[in-house]
Amino acid sequence: MEQAKQLVASQRAFFYTGQTKNIEYRIRALQQLRQGIEKYQQRILDALRADLNKSEAEAYSSEIRIVLGELDFALDHLKDWAEPRVVPTSSLIPDGVSTIYSEPYGVALIIAPWNYPFQLAFGPLIGAIAAGNCAIIKPSELTPSVSRLTHDLVEEIFPMEYVAVMEGEVETSTALLNEKFDYIFFTGSTGVGRIVMKAAAEHLTPVTLELGGKSPVIVHKDADLQLAAQRIVRGKFLNAGQTCVAPDYLLVHQDVHDKLLELIATEIKDKFGEDVIRNTDFPHIVNARNFDRLSVFLNGDRALIGGRSDRDQLLIEPTVLGNVDWNSPVMQEEIFGPILPVMIYNDLNPLLDEIVRRPKPLGLYLFTEDEELQNQILEQVSFGGGCINDTLSHMTSHFLPFGGVGESGMGAYHGQKSFDVFSHHKSILKR
Ligand code: NAD
Repeated sequence: MEQAKQLVASQRAFFYTGQTKNIEYRIRALQQLRQGIEKYQQRILDALRADLNKSEAEAYSSEIRIVLGELDFALDHLKDWAEPRVVPTSSLIPDGVSTIYSEPYGVALIIAPWNYPFQLAFGPLIGAIAAGNCAIIKPSELTPSVSRLTHDLVEEIFPMEYVAVMEGEVETSTALLNEKFDYIFFTGSTGVGRIVMKAAAEHLTPVTLELGGKSPVIVHKDADLQLAAQRIVRGKFLNAGQTCVAPDYLLVHQDVHDKLLELIATEIKDKFGEDVIRNTDFPHIVNARNFDRLSVFLNGDRALIGGRSDRDQLLIEPTVLGNVDWNSPVMQEEIFGPILPVMIYNDLNPLLDEIVRRPKPLGLYLFTEDEELQNQILEQVSFGGGCINDTLSHMTSHFLPFGGVGESGMGAYHGQKSFDVFSHHKSILKR
């Protein structure tokens, strides 16, 4: 596509003027972005309501607040991050001074998904700008209102040779991926991640891939069950389960299964009301295709809690499925909806072996006070990141790099790591 070619060429020419490398320029750009987001705040909330039926409270806390937090953190620390770092020199070169310089890659491509369409487009952009790059964002076509506002916001505050948004479907992504970028930051499914990495290989472009997967939550017999129920319900049903790091399935010790499920049922009622289908604030499934995919799980397995849905509104109520094993259809793919399958254990070890045999999860959550078990799982199971006695919260810290491993992704960002992923670290020895 000619448009992609021209846009990349104009950004590359702008990058070579050197303006984006200037620290004051980057700080000004981040401040402009902050002002733009504040100005567009109501439109962002309205768009998230239109595309996903997110309530204002949920949209603000899980999208806007996270981006503003990252922006402020970058503004506070950018000068330090960008300083050349003097490091020790090997004793073989006694008169040498060693320094690491951070430099921007050049022109970055950011491809965003639909589930947190605002946060996952603007979050990476903060890192790209902080590190001194030009950037093109490709928002998801499945959330058209957010896609449009992303375009309008960026167009209002930045010249397109610096930061631009190219809206469109797969053909737009494909056209962009045919061009040579200096960095590609992709958030989305594992399948499309493979396509992105293949395209990047053609130009030897480095990539960050923020992908998905099946993240287990484990509740052991000694866990604080009330707390586990609260935090599992919050983490699983946020955005109707359409969260990359949502607990995908629950493994619970047989001694506490009944009590935990009782508490989960109460927690769901307290949080979402008796009839979620009439709860005007519960997010809907993004489209009919995903609704139909999820409905198959509702038909096949036994709903211990919930199970009702409404195709006209694309709503599925928070549902817990029993009678599930590793071979059940719901255990074969990332669920990405408000459905939580449960498996009961007496001995956790065979289940841990199965988790290790499967693709590495993006997240893992463990509820127990038993430090031996905590250490065993941290040592035995490879996964992107996670929490002990909580869900999701690790991704809200500026000090914990967020990302997957294996099929759940490569590379990590947030906080200083966002600056680092969009920077090349140039090592110089001076004599
Ligand atoms: P997706 O992979 O279908 O789409 C992501 C982006 O890629 C969209 O902009 C889309 O237009 C584009 N795209 C789709 N098909 C393409 C193709 N063939 N070639 C090039 N580009 C293509 O993902 P999605 O459905 O938008 O998002 C859901 C997935 O994203 C889930 O698997 C979820 O776990 C994952 N996810 C991961 C994170 C994370 O931080 N790790 C965050 C959010 C979502």
